Amino acid sequence: MDIQKGRVVGMHYTLRNEQGDVIDTSQGRDPLVFLQGYGNIIPGLESQLEGCKEGEQLDVVVEPEQAYGVKHDQLIQKVPREAFQGVDKVEVGMQFQAQTEQGPVPIRVVEVQDEEVTIDGNHELAGERLHFSVSIESVREASEEEIAHGHAH
Ligand code: ZN
Repeated sequence: MDIQKGRVVGMHYTLRNEQGDVIDTSQGRDPLVFLQGYGNIIPGLESQLEGCKEGEQLDVVVEPEQAYGVKHDQLIQKVPREAFQGVDKVEVGMQFQAQTEQGPVPIRVVEVQDEEVTIDGNHELAGERLHFSVSIESVREASEEEIAHGHAH
C-alpha cells in the first residue's frame, strides 16, 4: 500500500543536519506513527512521502521554509542579566518560557556576558536544511475516528 492522505504510516527515521550530525532518530524506539495529509509532520517531509510504499527506504532533503522556517533576527535579543532573577547561573543552552503579549514563548540562551544575556526565540532548527533517512515500516487505511480527529491512534 502506498502513502496517501488519510492513511496511517509507521516509519523509522534518522534526522541529520547539514553537517551530518544526528539530531533525532527513531532507531531503538517504536516507529513514528502518523496520519498522512493532516499536518502531523513537517510539510516538506509529508509532501515528499506522498506515494511512497511500505518497505521503501529513501533519503529526503527538506529546505528550512518547508521545515521549521527561516531564522528571524528580531527574535534574537540582548537582555540585561537582571532579567534572570532567581536563576543561580545563566548558561548557554538554557531554555526558558518568556511571557509575552502573545502568550508564553520558548527561548534559548545563546550567549552570556557580564551584564547582558543574548536570547534566541527561533526554533532550534529554524534556518536548517534537514536530511531525513526514512524507512517505511507500515501503511494502512485510517479509521473514521482517526480522520475525524486528524491524527493516528
Ligand atoms: Zn484522537
